[in-house]
Amino acid sequence: MGDDEDLEKLDEMIREEEKKSPAKKVLVCPECNSTDVVYYVGGELGYQYRCKNCGYVGAFILEK
Ligand SMILES: [Zn+2]
Repeated sequence: MGDDEDLEKLDEMIREEEKKSPAKKVLVCPECNSTDVVYYVGGELGYQYRCKNCGYVGAFILEK
C-alpha cells in the first residue's frame, strides 16, 4: 500500500535534485571526454550517468 507513495516521493526527490544542480556545471564523460552526458537513474544502483557519445554508464563522472 505504501509502495506507490514511496515511488512518488522518489520521483519528487529526483525532480528536486535536478532543480538543485546548477545548469552551468558541465558533465564530462571520463571515457571519451564528451560533454553529451545525461542523468541516468539506474534503479537499485541509484544515480548514474550515461554518455550518449560512447555509451558509458556509471556513477563516476567528471565535472567542468
Ligand atoms: Zn563517453
